Amino acid sequence: MRTVKVQTHTPRNAYDIIIERGLIKNVGSLVKNVSSASKVTVITDSNVEKIYAEGVVSSLKESGFDTSLFVFPAGEKSKTLSTVSDMYDHMVNFRMSRKDIVVALGGGVTGDMAGFAAASYMRGIDFVQIPTSLLAQVDSSVGGKTGVNIKQGKNLVGAFHQPILVIIDPDTLKTLPDYYINDGMAEVIKYGCIKDSELFKTLEDKNALDIIEDVIEQCVSIKRDVVNRDEKEAGERMLLNFGHTLGHSLEKIYNFEGLSHGQAVAIGMVMITAASENAGITEKGTTVKIISLCKKYGLPVEDKADKEEIAAICAGDKKAGSGSVNLVLLTKIGESFTKKTPLSELEEFISI
Ligand code: MG
Repeated sequence: MRTVKVQTHTPRNAYDIIIERGLIKNVGSLVKNVSSASKVTVITDSNVEKIYAEGVVSSLKESGFDTSLFVFPAGEKSKTLSTVSDMYDHMVNFRMSRKDIVVALGGGVTGDMAGFAAASYMRGIDFVQIPTSLLAQVDSSVGGKTGVNIKQGKNLVGAFHQPILVIIDPDTLKTLPDYYINDGMAEVIKYGCIKDSELFKTLEDKNALDIIEDVIEQCVSIKRDVVNRDEKEAGERMLLNFGHTLGHSLEKIYNFEGLSHGQAVAIGMVMITAASENAGITEKGTTVKIISLCKKYGLPVEDKADKEEIAAICAGDKKAGSGSVNLVLLTKIGESFTKKTPLSELEEFISI
């Protein structure tokens, strides 16, 4: 079993991310090791429920936990305060106390929402993450960001709340369609781009799925190191937004339908690197490398969207400060930095 230890600034101050094939069968005893709770609410969506809920619930029961299950309809549309409110109702009816815990079983939407319910129920109770998508395993399971969408925008309401344990079973990826694997691979490629040229090379030379435990371990370690140094996103953590500033604009243009987060990030990474390479900031040939790696993992590398519209949407994005945007750029594969760019110059910068 691989263990990545995460230090946090919260009272509990550390948790483990454990990675091993087949781990989901042992959830009960793994949770028992880190919690003295008597009750557990497992939160999952209607897709993941069908495959894993029964096994996880019975494993928790066998380990002595009084366990209940909360299921919500799968999809980003469920990521609302109204669903979280239903979670509170469920937890109150189940008589959950402050000592009891939530287990988030599923992808990013489940982790974000269940984490937020745990962060706010009775001013905060413990929670365990069991991410079942590649995107959630390499990205959202580290860092403690939780939240929901409101009508004015995505993730505008939330809290930083660290899990007490993250259980990653790479075998859960076998039940995912390729589309969702590719979606997560964009974030994997991102880690190589911003921090680790060796990881990037490994992804070029091998099939990431053949060595997925290594790949997940390397990605969460990179994110762990970045988040450790910058838990509340004041500086270095911005590097994790590589490809995301323009990618987020694309997601908005598509109204978050028809283009996945990973697809948007892939196009965003290519677009921003083409611009910075053209401006003489990034080593020549870097864009071509990112393009061929994205293609290898089934990701798009361009979009017909208007550059003017992309820049205009960045101006209204929550990640943009007043009047300027922090662009994440590469000097070369494995090395990144942020460049504060006036919004008035963004359109020209990306319009090469
Ligand atoms: Mg992302």
